Amino acid sequence: MAKTTDPTTATAGPTFGWCHWHEGPSGTAVMVRVVEQGSGPGAALYACAPCREQRGLVPFSEQQP
Ligand SMILES: [Zn+2]
Repeated sequence: MAKTTDPTTATAGPTFGWCHWHEGPSGTAVMVRVVEQGSGPGAALYACAPCREQRGLVPFSEQQP
């Protein structure tokens, strides 16, 4: 099975803790916006808790449709 001791490469999920607002790693980053592109999949932007608080960002999962 997969190793679980390497925090930098163990997770292959969509989130790995990167904040696009301060452009650095974060343990609290969540997706807040999806940038739709003309072709191909949209790019997801993630923001950490402090950046969300400073800029009034709402997690994508909590936004109303
Ligand atoms: Zn941030």
